[in-house]
Amino acid sequence: MNNTPHPPRLPRLIEVRKNVLKRNDLLARKLRDRFRAASVFVASLVSSPGAGKTAFLEKTLTALRAQCRVAALVGDLATDNDAARLARAEVPVRQITTGTVCHLEAEMVERALDGWNLDELDCLFIENVGNLVCPSSYDLGEEMRLVLMSVTEGEDKPLKYPTIFNTADVAIITKIDLAAAVEFDLKSARRNIQSVRPGMRVFELSAKTGEGMDEWLRLLQSRL
Ligand code: MG
Ligand code: ZN
Repeated sequence: MNNTPHPPRLPRLIEVRKNVLKRNDLLARKLRDRFRAASVFVASLVSSPGAGKTAFLEKTLTALRAQCRVAALVGDLATDNDAARLARAEVPVRQITTGTVCHLEAEMVERALDGWNLDELDCLFIENVGNLVCPSSYDLGEEMRLVLMSVTEGEDKPLKYPTIFNTADVAIITKIDLAAAVEFDLKSARRNIQSVRPGMRVFELSAKTGEGMDEWLRLLQSRL
């Protein structure tokens, strides 16, 4: 019998993870500097799968394209379906297919920008992979992070995933046209958001009916 204790494994994993995150942070900082130097406003979108990021983004891109030069990057594990959908907005779109990685990293964003002249852009949207957990740890160099939750997910999403709400700047409650049908309690949802992120700006909207989109677009235009 060998009584030598096993070396503790957890600290090593934590160490590796810390290095990955540190590398990501440095790269994200470089990206943010590049975006600022080229005067590109960058917003990222995070949510669980199916919350309506792509539908919301398609409407946003369509509304913006007459006034400014806008483009989008869209992350998914597989398929370029979302890029094809977003291309209907008739703006430049690139798909980032992550394979087994369940979030975007700054390096993927940097690679996807290859060949794009940032000076020819005013606004860039980055749609993250549908996931409310690890995207919170990865800075993508964005100026504004939007967290979306749909009325079909229930009011307690912010309580279950406080970290992602904490790292976001704006919360968007989507599919508001379905709120009555699923008995969504807007007051309680707002209360939950404020309890994890006091003072957070919240929009309620439906990409399908267009309800609430104007208010969101006004905020966006004030930042461009
Ligand atoms: Mg999508
Ligand atoms: Zn992940």
